Amino acid sequence: MIKIMRYLLIYLLLFMHTISNAQSYEKIHMDGVLVDTHNDILSKVVEDHVVFDTNLKGVTQSDLNRMRQGGIKVQMFSIFCDEHFGKGSAFSYANVELDSLFAIVARNPKTMQMVYSYKELMKAVKDHKLACMSGVEGGHMIEDNLDYLDSFYRRGVRYMTLSWNNSTSWSTSAMDETQHTFKVTPYGLNAFGKEVVKRMNHLGMMVDVSHIGEKTFWDVIATTNKPVLASHSSVYAICPVPRNLKDDQIKAIAKNGGVIQINFYSGFLDSTFFKKVESFVKIHKEEHDSLAALKKPEYLIQDYFARKYKTEYDNMRPPLSLLLDHIDYIVKLVGVDYVGLGSDFDGIDSAPKGLDGVEDYPKITEGLMKRGYSEKDIDKILGGNFLRVFKANDQ
Ligand SMILES: [Zn+2]
Repeated sequence: MIKIMRYLLIYLLLFMHTISNAQSYEKIHMDGVLVDTHNDILSKVVEDHVVFDTNLKGVTQSDLNRMRQGGIKVQMFSIFCDEHFGKGSAFSYANVELDSLFAIVARNPKTMQMVYSYKELMKAVKDHKLACMSGVEGGHMIEDNLDYLDSFYRRGVRYMTLSWNNSTSWSTSAMDETQHTFKVTPYGLNAFGKEVVKRMNHLGMMVDVSHIGEKTFWDVIATTNKPVLASHSSVYAICPVPRNLKDDQIKAIAKNGGVIQINFYSGFLDSTFFKKVESFVKIHKEEHDSLAALKKPEYLIQDYFARKYKTEYDNMRPPLSLLLDHIDYIVKLVGVDYVGLGSDFDGIDSAPKGLDGVEDYPKITEGLMKRGYSEKDIDKILGGNFLRVFKANDQ
């Protein structure tokens, strides 16, 4: 009898320990200021007509309610169009996406707020409203015109990714620099590109170094007088793809006082992911080729496949621990002050297992706690590091 009682007591204590642990990670998560610097839902709002402030579970990776569930306090919405938009169309398309953000915020005044400064951001967080800002993902949207850059700033754009996968006339992308689709030597930032960076510094718009080529990156580091942001990039040493940052780049960002916001895309976290996709495409070759023949871009084909062959696609997802490895790597290389989170949700067709959408953010905090991170360090990773960079730019 006593033996049974003892077992029961041990079981009860273990159970209570688990419960209190669960509570503490959730509390730490919800008490922190979680910032996500890259979410592509606005493209789906504009193109697929999804309504962000309704329940979109099973349809998208993000919606307003699930953002709140996931503990997001600050969201930077990505403003995006691809290289098919150029002079005469890219700037106006970007403004359509911005308009949609303003409309969403306007009809949810109790839960969302546009913020234009560090002070306003902190006030919105205190008022339990989702603080909303935006980032233009691709310098082609300013159409080589600094007035357009100023206009974006006035409309709440607080970072610009100098190039997307397509280079601009003034900055080369990682894609072009590595795949040599350019006939010229990678040229980095030209004189106008440097003017753009200086103008951004002057306005208080963060310079986003995600997507840009290495040559452009080093030109930016030499030009900027404010800390830079990598809004959605991961670690090259773990997953060597052109979109990720090499050790010397990570060190340069730390030296500059900037921050690297880890991208959740399986292909940027897991070095075996693209091989798995390749084998998958071989199985569905006929269908793939018929879509490619319609001139559908590869990223849209993969998005379509991810929906149609969900089980097969799910099997290719890496574990959540791999995302934590990317965070650990940066922490070990340069310290805990230079890493954060930039999911790329709704711009990616695959994320680690368990991260189905914005509602799953607490699992990252749980994982960090299990790895021994202190509450103070977790706060920095969730948003504190980003806030430092934003504050420094917003002066
Ligand atoms: Zn991107």
